[in-house]
Amino acid sequence: MAEYSAPIKDMRFVLDNIADLAALSKLDGFEHAESDVVDAVLEEAGKFAGNVLSPLNKSGDLQGSLVMDGVVSTPDGWNEAYAGFVEGGWNGISAPEKYDGGGLPSAVALATVEMWNAANLGFSLCPLLTQGAIESIMAHGTKEQQDKYLKKLVSGEWAATMNLTESQAGSDVGALRSKAEPAEDGTWRISGQKIFITYGDHEMSENIIHLVLARTPGAPAGTRGISLFIVPKYLVNDDGTLGKRNDLKCVSLEE
Ligand SMILES: Cc1cc2nc3c(=O)[nH]c(=O)nc-3n(C[C@H](O)[C@H](O)[C@H](O)COP(=O)(O)OP(=O)(O)OC[C@H]3O[C@@H](n4cnc5c(N)ncnc54)[C@H](O)[C@@H]3O)c2cc1C
Repeated sequence: MAEYSAPIKDMRFVLDNIADLAALSKLDGFEHAESDVVDAVLEEAGKFAGNVLSPLNKSGDLQGSLVMDGVVSTPDGWNEAYAGFVEGGWNGISAPEKYDGGGLPSAVALATVEMWNAANLGFSLCPLLTQGAIESIMAHGTKEQQDKYLKKLVSGEWAATMNLTESQAGSDVGALRSKAEPAEDGTWRISGQKIFITYGDHEMSENIIHLVLARTPGAPAGTRGISLFIVPKYLVNDDGTLGKRNDLKCVSLEE
């Protein structure tokens, strides 16, 4: 029996009466947000949250993840649940269709996110971080970066992280010491150590795209001098295939 039962009727009430779904669906790009489509999305998301994610919540918490010889393994059932999540297209339901996303309003996607969070918060943090990277690359990436990374992140075949915090730089993120040195080929060599990186390593996705804060040579002190770099776990070739393993590694997990 499912341990989590999504409050679909309440969500639908909020979408109709507070978010004004009818008006949203008239906006350019949201033509698919018709009433019956939204009903089907909420229904199916509720099943995935209740039947797949919720049963793994307690067992995943008790078992935890392990790091051994530089490889992080997630609890039993996690890989299969993530594969189902990707297969169901849940990762990108609000991403633009040009990146193979579902093109639904964020209001609808948020209802599904609430289901993932309520059913299994530990699991849901992985797609949450990927979503942040998608938005960041859409807003600030070059066209080349968008073409290279967005479709795989939207599908969830690749996951993502944010690598901001260092042991001496939490709230005061401008105190970070990670360095970025330019290489001759136009790429950068990043060195440093991060801490508390959510889903910083795992084997659930083919690749992990890390968004890493670091300071370039001569950059001013404090937050004004930090830049954001795309650091893939596996380097990505120009044709989109995976290249060699980057040399970043996870040295320990939080307990
Ligand atoms: C579950 C979890 C997941 C995380 N995931 C990520 C991640 O994916 N990527 C990532 O980069 N980081 C991640 N972090 C790190 C998170 O961003 C930091 O914990 C956060 O920035 C706070 O830093 P800190 O822990 O060093 O605490 P500190 O900054 O040392 O703060 C300690 C205490 O001092 C207070 N304080 C700090 N500065 C001031 C001030 N100027 N005035 C008054 N009070 C102050 C704070 O409110 C807090 O109570 C994660 C943390 C947690 C707990």
